[in-house]
Amino acid sequence: MSTDPYQEQRADLAAAFRWFARLGMAEAVANHFSVAVSEDGSRFLVNPCRRHFSQIRASELLLLDARDPATLEKPNAPDPTAWYLHAGLHANVPHARCVMHLHCRYATALGCLADSTLYPIDINAARFFGRVATDTDFSGMALSSDEAGRQARLLLGGKSVLLMANHGVLVVGATVAEAFDELYYFERAAEMLLTCYSTGKPLRLMPDSTAELTKRQWLEYPGFATDHLNAVKGILDREEPEYRL
Ligand SMILES: [Zn+2]
Repeated sequence: MSTDPYQEQRADLAAAFRWFARLGMAEAVANHFSVAVSEDGSRFLVNPCRRHFSQIRASELLLLDARDPATLEKPNAPDPTAWYLHAGLHANVPHARCVMHLHCRYATALGCLADSTLYPIDINAARFFGRVATDTDFSGMALSSDEAGRQARLLLGGKSVLLMANHGVLVVGATVAEAFDELYYFERAAEMLLTCYSTGKPLRLMPDSTAELTKRQWLEYPGFATDHLNAVKGILDREEPEYRL
């Protein structure tokens, strides 16, 4: 049995990587998830550089310290864009204990439309009613801390999803399970909206009051995100248990 104090977060994050790979939501050996392990968010776990999501194991997640300026010069350095983004968000957004960033198909496509609004057309989209911030200032790859500062400001105020126009999506949560569940449902909601757009027919929007109620019901649904991740871990425990190692 491992004595690593962060074994639980490590296993949860490794499971999330592998599951999103199974769902076809990974991007080559890019994209990144992290979870803070210190109270102030300065220490966090993140995926190792250039490792495919489908192969990630708990023990190889990097434990980084945002206060260490030499991080990118070390032999096992993280991807630079992951470093700037996640260090900046953990340090500046208190509710961003877990941060997940993907270029998954439907969320990214939504961010490539001139109108990127996730309209409340179904139960999944209503979950995000009024909870999505959109960053419309994409300016190339985030190879400095500037992008993270702008994105942190957009997430402050309680938003949990940042739709990164012309780029991808980023979600934050109090736990790995929360961010995992949020990202899964955001992609599903975007998929449904784009499927509706593809028909060329007008949307049947639900009234704001119904969207608001549905969102509240989602947020008050007890233990759903944890149950979702536990179910996924149960499958992985049977089919690829090495993710925990
Ligand atoms: Zn990206």
